[in-house]
Amino acid sequence: MSVRNNFHKAYLGSSLNSFEKRDLRKTGIEIISDVPWGTHLCQFYKTREDLLDILVPYFAKGLEENEYCMWVTSRPLMPRDVTSVMKKAVPDFEGYLKNGQIEIIPYSEWYIRGGGFDENRVLKGWVDKYNKALKKGFSGLRLTGNTFWVSKKIWSAFADYEETINSVIGNYRMLAICTYSLDKCGANEVLDVANTHQFALIKREGTWRIFESSSLKESKQALRSEIEERKRIEESLRQSEQRYATTLASIGEGVIVTDVGSRIMFMNAVAEKLTGWEAKNALNRQLKEVFNLMDNHTRKSICDPAVMCAEKGKVVSFSSNIVLARKDGIEIPLVDSVAPIKDQNSKIVGTVLVFRDISQHKKAEEEILHLASFPNMSPDPVVELTFGGEVIYSNPTSKRLFPDLKKLGGKHPYISNWHWVVSHLTRNPVNDLKREVSVDGVVYLQTIQYISSMDVFRIYGSNISDRKQIEEVLRKSEARFEALYDANIIGMVQGDLRGNIYDVNDAFLSIIDYTREELKERRITFRKLTPSKYREGEIRAKRELLCKGVTIPWEKEFIKKDGSLTPVIIGEVLTNKDKKETIAFVLDITERKKLESRKDEFIGAASHELKTPITIIKAFNEILQRRFAKSKDTQNEYFASNINEQVDRLTKLINDLLDVSKIQAGKLKFYSKIFDIDKLIMKTVTDFQYITKTHSIETKGRIRRKIYGDEGRIHQVLVNLITNAIKYSPNGDKIIINREEGKDSVLIMVQDFGVGISESHRKKIFDRFYTGGEKEAQNIPGFGMGLYICKEIIKGHMGELWFESKKGKGSTFYFTLPLKK
Ligand code: ADP
Repeated sequence: MSVRNNFHKAYLGSSLNSFEKRDLRKTGIEIISDVPWGTHLCQFYKTREDLLDILVPYFAKGLEENEYCMWVTSRPLMPRDVTSVMKKAVPDFEGYLKNGQIEIIPYSEWYIRGGGFDENRVLKGWVDKYNKALKKGFSGLRLTGNTFWVSKKIWSAFADYEETINSVIGNYRMLAICTYSLDKCGANEVLDVANTHQFALIKREGTWRIFESSSLKESKQALRSEIEERKRIEESLRQSEQRYATTLASIGEGVIVTDVGSRIMFMNAVAEKLTGWEAKNALNRQLKEVFNLMDNHTRKSICDPAVMCAEKGKVVSFSSNIVLARKDGIEIPLVDSVAPIKDQNSKIVGTVLVFRDISQHKKAEEEILHLASFPNMSPDPVVELTFGGEVIYSNPTSKRLFPDLKKLGGKHPYISNWHWVVSHLTRNPVNDLKREVSVDGVVYLQTIQYISSMDVFRIYGSNISDRKQIEEVLRKSEARFEALYDANIIGMVQGDLRGNIYDVNDAFLSIIDYTREELKERRITFRKLTPSKYREGEIRAKRELLCKGVTIPWEKEFIKKDGSLTPVIIGEVLTNKDKKETIAFVLDITERKKLESRKDEFIGAASHELKTPITIIKAFNEILQRRFAKSKDTQNEYFASNINEQVDRLTKLINDLLDVSKIQAGKLKFYSKIFDIDKLIMKTVTDFQYITKTHSIETKGRIRRKIYGDEGRIHQVLVNLITNAIKYSPNGDKIIINREEGKDSVLIMVQDFGVGISESHRKKIFDRFYTGGEKEAQNIPGFGMGLYICKEIIKGHMGELWFESKKGKGSTFYFTLPLKK
């Protein structure tokens, strides 16, 4: 034993490590296949062929596996035989020989060199060969030795040697086969040999069998369990690495690993996304290139976090206001921390950066700030209180409105009856409580909520004083309306623009002579109550209502229950534009109409009665005037001509009155024939030119075609318009009469440069007895009948009469008459 230990110390360096021990070698021997380094086996043979059977493939494989091979021969196989056999069996065997990878020597040159067997020398020889082989770059030593030469005398020394070599080989990159001739071994020797080798190869019935020694079995068992353990460790290492890789890949944060020089060694998918760099392009680059951090406020680059971390030797964090400038220039707000990676000796070998995109987080923060600004900016008071009425939050508006709210708490009028509020809300926590409170004459509508998560009450208030006032005004106005409605001074109808009637007052019922029930049952509408001749007027009134919201009161008639007509004045207002609801005010004018027609009848009769004596006066006066002229009594002739003039004016007035009453009674008659209107115009102008000394009358245009109509009435119209033109231009000196002949009608214009007619009088100018024109016109005598009669005459001829005027600039009256077809 001591020999073995000494030998170890003396000749061998460090023994095989456990890893090398497990390095399996191919033996080339079919029944053994792979064995670990250090295997020492023996072969029992009978013949030369037995030896070649095992050793030739054994060495062929060794050469192929880059091992140094040593074949120590003995009878019956000598080096020469071996060389020739090997040459045949191994391709390019010569090459191996030349290369010095195989040595084939006789036992005499190895075991008993110098005359006798020396265990130490032989062992040292092997080890020298082994060391040289490794130096030359071979992977180990493969050898065989033949024991044929061992005599009985040295058998036991050789057996010791075998035991030693067994333990030596076991620790190095060596494989050995010792060959024993069965002819030389008895049963005891075979057992000895088998015990000192791990395998024994023996040929039985023509086939090679293998026997393992018990120690080998044990060591094989140990080896197997070691291999299993190694496999298990490798598997768990693989799994842990797998887990590590999957974790890094699936982690929600970006991870970058750098070496100590800030060079990127690893980056996960999130880091790829956040930096905009693909890992394959980023690896081995400097961190700064890929991971460019900036201070968002100062816009300055932040120094390399990996370098900072490596310098400080501890975790470095960046949290507020840093942004990562991505490859495409987009900036991403980040939080980042960098930790050093240390080896077993606590030396920093790299850093690991973990970072997270906080854009969403920033957005959420901004949202919260934004939301928090709501009560702060609210123009209405918002207050939060505890059960006991202690104010724990009040927004700026409530502080301004109720400066002593916090001090007074439950005693403040804004939080009056707090106990009641609390008990109500704790009983019904789901529903908000609404109530009105009054503070210094201002009414607030409060919405009070119980916020269970915070165990507080919140009051949202709004000033409703204005609303209250409006409600009050509305209530009063409704009351007034109802009073007016029920007073029945005037007929009132609530309805809509479609003509539906919702409700009427008693005054209206008495105008149309229906009961309220009948109105409802018979579904009476405005349409049913209105004669068709007022359809046009109705449409105009509707348009006016929609545009202006009110109508100018106008005259119409309603059909009573018995079918007779009641004249009314009706005005309407639109009360709801969307629903088109209206209220109509209806005034019964039956009595006024009766009076008017009595007056018209009287005027008609009186004028008629006046006409005869006036005609007689005029006839006798003309006789007198002629006689005075004959007798050259110029003074009396002058008096008589004055009487004549006044009689003419009286005649015109009576004629106008008669015409008006005829129009009213619908009895104005026309005696139509074909006549030359151009001639009529020229004659009228010539007549006027004789009478008027103040104005000159200019004519323009020409009408060649004749027209069909009442020449006398058209003359009346011309006279009226020219008279007005002269009358209402007291400072003017010119009248223009223009005429045009169109395709179907003629147009006649009478233009003056007088006082004009302003917008406010425009609509009434054609009304009967209307004389309220401009101030300047009010001193000018007239009865307001002329234009009324003219309008009727032109209407009766299917023509139109209108005017254009500008106050102070003069007026132009136009009328058209159809040409005869
Ligand atoms: P009158 O007999 O009062 O002239 P008219 O019916 O002819 O009656 O005219 C009615 C009113 O129209 C007049 O009172 C006057 O105010 C106004 N008017 C008529 N013609 C003119 C005109 N050419 N220029 C200005 N105002 C006129």
